[in-house]
Amino acid sequence: MKHLDGLLDGLEDSAEVTRVIRRFAESKMFASYARASATKMVTSLFTDAGRTWRQAARKNSQGRRIYEALQRELNGRLGLDVRMQIERNAALIKSLPLDAAKQVNEKILSDTLKGIRASSVAEQIRKMFPGVAATKASLIARTETSKTATALTEARCQALGLDWYVWRTSEDQRVRDSHNLMSIVLCRWSDPPNPEALDGESRTFGHYHPGGIFNCRCYAEPVIDLDLITWPAKVYYGGRLQRMSRKQFEQIA
Ligand SMILES: [Zn+2]
Repeated sequence: MKHLDGLLDGLEDSAEVTRVIRRFAESKMFASYARASATKMVTSLFTDAGRTWRQAARKNSQGRRIYEALQRELNGRLGLDVRMQIERNAALIKSLPLDAAKQVNEKILSDTLKGIRASSVAEQIRKMFPGVAATKASLIARTETSKTATALTEARCQALGLDWYVWRTSEDQRVRDSHNLMSIVLCRWSDPPNPEALDGESRTFGHYHPGGIFNCRCYAEPVIDLDLITWPAKVYYGGRLQRMSRKQFEQIA
């Protein structure tokens, strides 16, 4: 973004500003930057999560099975998932400059609109662009990091035949009400909940796993051993939250 800022210096016409941003967004240099950042993001998560899993595996009776599966995973489905996630993140990063430019344009149009000279519009864009781009970048980083972490956990669970996870929140003030409601709820990978609908909110974001929407820091903790769950437990099943005994859960799991 700093590099782009330099390119915009001294431009007097808003159409020209947009053109330069577009050219930059479509350049080979920016494409390889986007790919490199996306790769770094996913692989660093991958090794972090790998460490946590290996630690969990050591403590668990199924440790050996989990460890062996971890060794195999990069050659199989998870490798594919990781590559797909990198592609998705790279595409998001690539779209960032133009999205930010569009947002700045819209804001200027709605704020000031009539009678303003093209050169001062261009100046406004130049002034606002870095801030808007930075905000967008950190939102993408936060949201996609959580999504990527969850996608990796899901892929690992699939490889191991683990169908359920516990919805975990970061357990602080900033957790949304709908996710507080999901805290420590058992969920099935094949049946993501709609937390806002369960919470009776009018604005919903569809069905998703922990970390699945903007600014969400929740994560999925795989259910490896039913002995580690406190029974009775809250379970998302049949489209609603239910309290179940271990026996009831074993019948549906
Ligand atoms: Zn959350």
